[in-house]
Amino acid sequence: MKKTLIVIDMQNDFVTGALGSKEAVAILPNVKKKIDEYIAAGHEVIFTRDTHGENYMETREGKYLPVPHCIKGTDGWQVVAELDREDCEHLDKPSFGFTGWSFAYDGARVLGMRRFEEIEIIGVCTDICVVSNALILKAYFPETNITVDASCCAGVTPESHAAALATMKSCQINVIGE
Ligand SMILES: [Zn+2]
Repeated sequence: MKKTLIVIDMQNDFVTGALGSKEAVAILPNVKKKIDEYIAAGHEVIFTRDTHGENYMETREGKYLPVPHCIKGTDGWQVVAELDREDCEHLDKPSFGFTGWSFAYDGARVLGMRRFEEIEIIGVCTDICVVSNALILKAYFPETNITVDASCCAGVTPESHAAALATMKSCQINVIGE
């Protein structure tokens, strides 16, 4: 069975940059180990990137969170170098949740419908982009087994991390690594 690891927004700005946290730094070894395991087993790894433009402060997200981050092309927008892999797919998303999961892409071009046999989700922030994408994936692929490894996720705060894990469990997502 093909397994897919989705690595959510492990970008410099969310780890050591504008919105970094010690919790995000602390999961780096676990995230690296997980990615290496998937690659070694011949499975698929997809990186998402939170992606904003220079007009970030005028966007609705910018009004609620007035901290410019993940401006496309900047160092803060890049996936953390020790985790990133050029040979894996990268999906740029302008909002918390990616709405294009049901399509397969070749660069920016849609190739057709995507199928996932088994999904594991890791990354940051547990209570924003991890939970958003977990629930969107659950809606698009209700018969696909979806797992979130808590030991490879970090939230805005430890409390909001725990609350998001509880929400995902309520929605029948397997939460491991707590
Ligand atoms: Zn953002």
